[in-house]
Amino acid sequence: MLSTMQDVPLTVTRILVHGALVHGRSRITTWTGEGEPQRRTFAEAGSRAVQLANALRDDLGVRGDDRVATLMWNNAEHVEAYFAIPSMGAVLHTLNLRLPAEQLAWIINHAADRVIIVNGSLIPLLAPLLRHLKTVEHVVVSGPGDRTPLDGSPVQVHEYEDLIVGKPTTYAWPELDERQAAALCYTSGTTGDPKGVVYSHRSIYLHSMQVNMAQSMGLTDQDTSLVVVPQFHVNAWGLPHAAFMTGVNMLMPDRHLQPAPLAEMIEGERPTHAAAVPTIWQGLLGELIARPRDVSFLTHVTIGGSACPPSLMEAFDKLGMRVCHAWGMTETSPLGTVARPPAHVVGTEEEFAYRLTQGRFPAGVEARLIGPGGERLPWDGASAGELEVRGPWIAGAYYNGPDVEPLRPADKFSEDGWLKTGDVGTIGPDGFLTLTDRAKDVIKSGGEWISSVELENGLMSHPDVAEAAVVAVPDDKWGERPLAIVVLKDGAAADFATLRSFLLDEAKIAKWQLPERWTVIDVVPKTSVGKFDKKVLRRQYATGELN
Ligand code: ADP
Repeated sequence: MLSTMQDVPLTVTRILVHGALVHGRSRITTWTGEGEPQRRTFAEAGSRAVQLANALRDDLGVRGDDRVATLMWNNAEHVEAYFAIPSMGAVLHTLNLRLPAEQLAWIINHAADRVIIVNGSLIPLLAPLLRHLKTVEHVVVSGPGDRTPLDGSPVQVHEYEDLIVGKPTTYAWPELDERQAAALCYTSGTTGDPKGVVYSHRSIYLHSMQVNMAQSMGLTDQDTSLVVVPQFHVNAWGLPHAAFMTGVNMLMPDRHLQPAPLAEMIEGERPTHAAAVPTIWQGLLGELIARPRDVSFLTHVTIGGSACPPSLMEAFDKLGMRVCHAWGMTETSPLGTVARPPAHVVGTEEEFAYRLTQGRFPAGVEARLIGPGGERLPWDGASAGELEVRGPWIAGAYYNGPDVEPLRPADKFSEDGWLKTGDVGTIGPDGFLTLTDRAKDVIKSGGEWISSVELENGLMSHPDVAEAAVVAVPDDKWGERPLAIVVLKDGAAADFATLRSFLLDEAKIAKWQLPERWTVIDVVPKTSVGKFDKKVLRRQYATGELN
């Protein structure tokens, strides 16, 4: 029997129309670094998004599923592009501005982008690439920055504001199939070549509803969210779409991502929520300790992208900012789990341990753990295996170019279509995930596994340690052993013997897991999305740069 319900496609267009109309007074505030921030209501941004769609179609000839890329910081214009491009049926391709130029050119050619919208401050990055780009016909420039490097370039150059001014504020939006591509994002390649994940209108719509649930971020129009996680990194964790659904005000840092301006914008604009990877928070914490500010209204902080060190969670708790840990990937839109402790532990000693897990699976994410022999492992909180997931906002394949079958590499997708996350951990009987490591980062020592994350968290809880990364290095006797790479705080002098005893006595690391190789460096290299770059560390060790 068929249902009697209306079959209304779940599209980004509907999120745009709803946000601009029903939450028209909510605001996008973009930090400018000097003077007043730029302030724009959802009604204004929505109207400008419609004008942008008109300009893309009428002046630039964007048609069908043409790819329109953005090389932009987090700002109001980027939000406008987020909605204009998919709503007209085209595909938004967010480019990661921290990738090496060669990789960026490869991705743009692979996606066959026709248009790139770029922030003026990023022209020095884009201009030298243009002659390597095979499909780009138009570059649209938004915001301050010297335009001269684009002179004589092989593409047509437009000004964003000139392009949209006077354009109609209505658009006969096409009735799209909800399974159609809406946005394209390449993985940042931490563990291999970048791979294109294509989000559908439906996946974005459902994911946004999940982000808005009380057990996820649960924000409303009374909140202002400081969106530090870049819009080029998995759709800023879905925040702009979720915000247009519920009217959450957005505070956008643009290119001002250093600890001092972040602290300044928190104090000045009083966001109630903020989202970023742990390395950003670690920097901000140092700043807030060095120069205390009133941050009392920022009560809710989402941390994900890599494991949140317990010491960081405790430090933020002390400042009155409650950390909520979450796990996800480019392939999972990204929301996969959120660590909101279950009711029965709230207020008990167990609560903190629950908050440190990666979190609980929402109804839209099915999970299973697979053991080394391919067997399915129980959810007993002890059996460790690789996490596999499936659901309506989880990738089932990678983009492989137009008119060709999508890629389904066997190391990424199971035969029955589940995503192999490459993350290793346990799941408790109540559906809470604890990740011990990435499969590629785990240290395989004499047939036993050592979690690099556990060692890092142990080291980073020592008061003298600013950052710590642990990687596997070859060992004649054991196959692999951990190498601890430590950044000490300014003026700190802890030696290896001290840190080793600390790991043993305080962090309760088993003796056989303790690293016997150590090195101190000035800063841990980071990936394009701010995670510890262990690929680089392993290479540096192999070439003798680290010893
Ligand atoms: P990349 O794979 O290039 O780093 P992603 O942002 O897609 O880009 O990374 C997803 C991966 O990040 C996950 O597979 C996992 O290893 C790691 N990750 C994300 N969130 C967490 C978390 N809360 N704890 C531990 N690891 C995490």
